[in-house]
Amino acid sequence: MSVSPPLINPRHSVAVRIGSVTVGGAAPVLIQSMTNTDTADVDATVRQVSELAHAGSELVRITVNSEAAARAVPGIHERLLKAGLDIPLVGDFHFNGHKLLANHPDCATALAKYRINPGNVGRGRKRDEQFSAFIEIACRHDKPVRIGVNWGSLDQVLVARLMDENSRRSEPRESHEVMHKIMVTSALESAAQAEAIGLGRDHIILSAKMSGVQDLIAVYRELSVRCDYALHLGLTEAGMGTRGVVASTAALAVLLQEGVGDTIRISLTPEPGGDRTREVVVAQELLQSMGLRHFTPAVIACPGCGRTTSHYFQQLAQDIEGHLRARMPEWRLQYPGVEEMTVAVMGCVVNGPGESKHADIGISLPGTGEKPVAPVYVDGEKTVTLKGESIAADFQKLVDDYVQRRYGRHA
Ligand code: SF4
Repeated sequence: MSVSPPLINPRHSVAVRIGSVTVGGAAPVLIQSMTNTDTADVDATVRQVSELAHAGSELVRITVNSEAAARAVPGIHERLLKAGLDIPLVGDFHFNGHKLLANHPDCATALAKYRINPGNVGRGRKRDEQFSAFIEIACRHDKPVRIGVNWGSLDQVLVARLMDENSRRSEPRESHEVMHKIMVTSALESAAQAEAIGLGRDHIILSAKMSGVQDLIAVYRELSVRCDYALHLGLTEAGMGTRGVVASTAALAVLLQEGVGDTIRISLTPEPGGDRTREVVVAQELLQSMGLRHFTPAVIACPGCGRTTSHYFQQLAQDIEGHLRARMPEWRLQYPGVEEMTVAVMGCVVNGPGESKHADIGISLPGTGEKPVAPVYVDGEKTVTLKGESIAADFQKLVDDYVQRRYGRHA
């Protein structure tokens, strides 16, 4: 049976329009990703943005760090539009953002949002001048800005000020508490400064990325009660492989459960030559497993144990999952609601029939010593028993038929 309906972010932050999408307000939590190509390489960047968008990324951030990168942005945007991909591009700027945007108005127009790190704008008096120049350009082009604080590159003047303040306290705070305060203060003071220059609240998104799970949770909890700006969540430098996935999930799940967060990114370090789209798939799985959104039918598979020595059910679960994912671009249009379907693939008679009955469609494969037959359950009822060499193909066909029958009538 289908899982819980999508929840709406209950924090009710100010809604921000970013190109073709809305972030915050009553909008669902959106998924963002970031390219790792040289933006000046138009072919490679268009290719990677397309891959990320097709995987399900709803906003894609690209680095704009040089004149060549800024020159390339309008062409990237145009080629994506020609390919039918109206995905909002977010320009990531550091140090020279104000100059690049001023020198390349076409770049400023093509981007749907700008991201600036208040710690990487400039030093001393130049910091305020360059920040103001950047925000004024955003106002002129009517573009939203993400003020993205990162604990690896904090505004050193602010750090010194708050450290001094802390040392003068009769009971100084622990260093990690001071760090949290610096993160929150940097985000809020920069946002107030942007508003004073003329950028509306509905054009501001904040992020305050840290690499420690507990640090991130503490900082965003604080931000969420101190302001109603839309918030972008992400654990920075989460790491590679399992560690990165687990750390990001642990941090973001706690915050999302508390209604904090309007966009998310899972910052995974890909294996050399690895697939950049993995961060999008992990973000989707996170939102879907929490019942916040649905992207692809869920495959419920048992973990396997001593009751089945066969790898058959694992292979079948993997094949079905791959099949569902591959069909989704087409099914999403043809069969609305199919993304909420659940498919069970179970390894033996102990939990197989029960779990299969709870799913929309499920199969219970034979465990060791069990009769070599596989009952299939549809909407909680046993409908057919598969056997022989073609169980996998037969079950896949039953799933396809079920999708057509159940969701086709809404097409
Ligand atoms: S369903 Fe059967 S094979 Fe799968 S974990 Fe449970 S007892 Fe083991």
